[in-house]
Amino acid sequence: MLIDIITIFPQVIESYASLSILKRAKEKGIAQINAINLRDYSTDKYHHVDDTPYGGGAGMVFKCEPCFKAIDTALSHNTFYKKSRVIFTSPCGRTFDQEYAEELSFEDHLVIICGRYEGIDQRIIDTYATDEISVGDYVLCGGELPALIISDAVVRLIPEVLGNDLSCENESFSAGLLEYPQYTKPEIYEGLKVPDVLLGGNHKEIEKWRREKQLERTFLRRPDILNRDLLTKEDILYLNKLKSEGDNK
Ligand code: SAH
Repeated sequence: MLIDIITIFPQVIESYASLSILKRAKEKGIAQINAINLRDYSTDKYHHVDDTPYGGGAGMVFKCEPCFKAIDTALSHNTFYKKSRVIFTSPCGRTFDQEYAEELSFEDHLVIICGRYEGIDQRIIDTYATDEISVGDYVLCGGELPALIISDAVVRLIPEVLGNDLSCENESFSAGLLEYPQYTKPEIYEGLKVPDVLLGGNHKEIEKWRREKQLERTFLRRPDILNRDLLTKEDILYLNKLKSEGDNK
């Protein structure tokens, strides 16, 4: 996969992409993140990429010309069979979640545009956008963090990027459940003990405990993501028990 990120702060993207899992994905030849400096596509002397909004109002807006040129350059990097997904980061977009990340992980080429200031001339979005993505109901100063959030969540889902292929399977959201609590050595730290069941080596018991913790957490914190179609009969019985305990409190 190739991810071209168009930004006025390429150093932010390059710095994060040079670490940890994104770095490993690049070294393995599985996914590469390429920052494109929008200012390189501005034709004026001062490399301006923005101008005042028509109709008045505060702030500045990204201009058509540099954006059209930068996106065309990014699109010319597509040597794959599949079409590119052109993603505009925006609070007005569809909210990003794990399912959306999974969908994007099957693509070969993503182009992500990071807005700044008041946003981007609508003609750019109308011409190129296949997606507009919001990372949540709040407003950031720019699209760089959203672009990194999207890239990070997508790349780690590509098979063979994470060392242990199983490590995505039980993660939060993957089956409409949050993850169970994790513990590591030592067994006791300043009087704080790891739950006994995890020390016993009884894999069936451990699996049952973890499943119950997932159900409990999700029920208490994120009932909106519980998906009955993905639950077993035992899960539903356990949830009913939690519910009646809650009702009796
Ligand atoms: N005036 C715009 C906000 C612009 S913020 C509005 O009210 O909708 C500047 C840039 O930051 C945006 O163009 C976008 O690229 C990015 N951005 C800010 N908040 C975001 C969010 N929640 N999700 C994705 N991108 C965001």
